Amino acid sequence: MEFETVIGLEIHAQLKTKSKIFCGCSTEFGAPPNTHTCQVCLGMPGVLPVLNKKVVEYSIKMGLATGSTINTFNQFARKNYFYPDLPKGYQTSQFDLPIVEFGKVEIEVDGKQKVVGITRMHMEEDAGKLIHDDRKPVSYVDLNRTGTPLLEIVSEPDMRSPEEAYAYLRKVHAILRYLDICDGNMQEGSFRCDANISLRPFGQEEFGIRTELKNMNSFKNVQAALEYEERRQRDVLLDGGKVVQETLLWDADRNRTESMRGKEEAHDYRYFPCPDLIPVVIDEEWIEEIRKTLPELPDARKERFISDYALPEYDAGILTASRDLADYFEAAVESGGKAKKVSNWIMTELLRELKGEDVTTCRVKPEQLGALLQMVDEGTISGKIAKTVFLDMMESGKDPGLVVKEKNLLQVSDQGELLALVREIIAANPGQVEEFKGGKTKLMGYFVGQLMQKTQGKANPKVANELFAGELNK
Ligand code: ADP
Ligand code: MG
Ligand code: ZN
Repeated sequence: MEFETVIGLEIHAQLKTKSKIFCGCSTEFGAPPNTHTCQVCLGMPGVLPVLNKKVVEYSIKMGLATGSTINTFNQFARKNYFYPDLPKGYQTSQFDLPIVEFGKVEIEVDGKQKVVGITRMHMEEDAGKLIHDDRKPVSYVDLNRTGTPLLEIVSEPDMRSPEEAYAYLRKVHAILRYLDICDGNMQEGSFRCDANISLRPFGQEEFGIRTELKNMNSFKNVQAALEYEERRQRDVLLDGGKVVQETLLWDADRNRTESMRGKEEAHDYRYFPCPDLIPVVIDEEWIEEIRKTLPELPDARKERFISDYALPEYDAGILTASRDLADYFEAAVESGGKAKKVSNWIMTELLRELKGEDVTTCRVKPEQLGALLQMVDEGTISGKIAKTVFLDMMESGKDPGLVVKEKNLLQVSDQGELLALVREIIAANPGQVEEFKGGKTKLMGYFVGQLMQKTQGKANPKVANELFAGELNK
């Protein structure tokens, strides 16, 4: 029997505001424990939360960018549970009246387009962090993160494979980054994802029993965890067993999931409207003002890259998947690189040397890459030399012109200078010369190679070919 996979994702995106959602404390990451706290985010009795307007603005932005409905009347609710990293004893979240509903995100897998529905997005506060000591039976609590604004983005169970889930996650991430409302760092936890997955026999309408996967801190981990869980559930079902509804933790080191809690431990959160916060009422005019500030989004930018720079769809897709990479590309082209060349260099040399690091931290600035490629175009250096120059730039951050000068890498195009060497090589290889004259024209590569060796790769290949052809056909 064959099964169809059904996946729905819950994403928690930390919103990039300066201060927390209900108090003035800083949201900065990495400060000494418990230094960014106050009576409000510590949950002292008698304090009152005040909603940060930026959180509402950013949520509306994301709603508009995904074609969603903005609920002009929405409300905060208390989600009650005890956690040591949330001292109030409840999380202030939204329940039946979220700020955003009914959106859609377009994805593409294997050249096929598909729309994934967004059920809802709601505003809530993040919890703090527990730090467990491996050597002592103690845990520490850091409440700096408590009260950091989150936008929870809940998808419809519309995805049918781990690849689709991966593409959706990437797309949501890209939109948040384009809007500049979330820094998107999965390692630091500012972009997190829980994945729900179930299987059902093909043709069956009713969904199967699902499990929920947590603890994946990279895009690849989300896909790997879903692939593992897809296999595990299939094995259970093929064995005639039943999938148990539970929450599983992904163990990236061991490549497997582990049970965290079962359904019988499922919480009853006893939601009720938060009496400390009045309902959020949004002006239509404000929504229209925010709409005007929306930047060009990934899909539109991709189309523009194809039409304006004549890039293949594949290149445009990779370059625009991240706003930073797309910005890098455009800046390099503006500084003199030809579009397709810049694209090739970014997709091969640059991405390889970045080794997964963020392009914004790259030592080679886009203007410098543009200048380097211009030097190749103008024949100042060869394409091959450019690769060594680039590696040097990645290390030193120097301008390409300076590296070329310091290392004496200027391309030699001077006929007189090269001709003497060409004649030397011809004189030293009488056998090959005879074969060449006898019709083995492939040997041209051998001769040019000799010249490259003598010049440490600096001979202009076009001039070299011309010179050898002239001398050998005499
Ligand atoms: P909960 O309140 O337990 O988080 P929800 O009904 O809000 O559950 O759903 C959470 C996520 O799980 C949503 O993204 C939804 O699309 C997805 N989901 C719901 N049912 C299934 C299912 N049977 N298989 C896969 N995903 C599912
Ligand atoms: Mg859930
Ligand atoms: Zn505070």
